[in-house]
Amino acid sequence: MKIALLSRNSKLYSSRRIIEAAEQRGHEIKVIDVLRAYMNIASHKPSIHYKGESLEGFDAVIPRIGASVTAYGTAVLRQFEVMGVAPLNESVAITRSRDKLRSLQLLSRKGIGMPLTGYASKPDDIKDVIKMVGGAPLVVKLLQGTQGIGVVLAETQKAAESVIEAFMGVKADILVQEYIKEAGGSDIRCFVIDGKVVAAMKRQAPKGEFRSNLHRGGTSSLIKITPEERSTAVRAARIMGLNVAGVDLLRSNHGAVVIEVNSSPGLEGIEGATGKDVAGMIISYVEKSCKPGRTKTRGKG
Ligand code: ADP
Repeated sequence: MKIALLSRNSKLYSSRRIIEAAEQRGHEIKVIDVLRAYMNIASHKPSIHYKGESLEGFDAVIPRIGASVTAYGTAVLRQFEVMGVAPLNESVAITRSRDKLRSLQLLSRKGIGMPLTGYASKPDDIKDVIKMVGGAPLVVKLLQGTQGIGVVLAETQKAAESVIEAFMGVKADILVQEYIKEAGGSDIRCFVIDGKVVAAMKRQAPKGEFRSNLHRGGTSSLIKITPEERSTAVRAARIMGLNVAGVDLLRSNHGAVVIEVNSSPGLEGIEGATGKDVAGMIISYVEKSCKPGRTKTRGKG
């Protein structure tokens, strides 16, 4: 197959592993830095150009679009879809998953468990927003944040009020969320491919920290998940419309709760913790499912 890998940096672990796995299986894979791709969207024959050449003949496209380039990255991906190239994850699903509020609303309407969550733009009554999610301690999250940046634990009512006021003062969109203390600074990353959890790891925050992101110094280890956790992760990925997803769960007193569904989950932590060839599984999925023209939306979203 001829595969396009949308990645800004081919030296990153995840990109390297995907290239390796594709080449091992005899595929041709070309890395495309989305910011350097340009498109003709008004032509009767839609095209994408890269470094002076038209990109043609691709069977599949694997998007690894960083949070900072979501808008342009998904536009390039959409153009591939319009051209009939099958994506690993569709542009609409990626856009959906990048918005925490939208994701949680979609998951909640299908009955997926999640921490009590409030959203507010400019409330006249911050105290009531806090009450809505059960009071302090609580977690305040920047809607566009990633890798744990913009996730703050407010331990007291006063701290919660001032953090919310501060974020609102700089016009930031935020979520206010029940703090799942019993998770003990750990979360579970379930790597889902094609409706199955193919690997799972536990991430533990360092001492004195509640965020378990590996970028924040968290450590990963192997974990056995329960059938309930497995089905929650699979359902969450399906609701988001993601064929490949990293679903993050917390173990709460009221069962597994989803905090995030990631559309470009990293491979380093999960392959390191589980010893599994997750990159190879992604390429197997591409071989099986990404046939030309097999895009559900064909860029309609
Ligand atoms: P990001 O997208 O920036 O990673 P998350 O919502 O995943 O933001 O939060 C980062 C980390 O903070 C999570 O991995 C988890 O360890 C911790 N965390 C997030 N929300 C909660 C919560 N409601 N209760 C307890 N811990 C949380």
